[in-house]
Amino acid sequence: MVKDPVCGMNVDELKTQYISKVNGKKVFFCREACKQEFDQNPKKYGY
Ligand SMILES: [Zn+2]
Repeated sequence: MVKDPVCGMNVDELKTQYISKVNGKKVFFCREACKQEFDQNPKKYGY
C-alpha cells in the first residue's frame, strides 16, 4: 500500500487505475478526482 498524496488515503498500487508519473516517479491515487487535482499542481504535494 502507498499513500494518496491528495487525500491521504492508503492506495493499493497493484489495483489502482489512477497513476501519474512525475520526474520518473509513479504516484498512485484512489480516484480520478485525486489524480486530476494532483496533475494540476504536483508541486503543491511536494513533487
Ligand atoms: Zn484520494
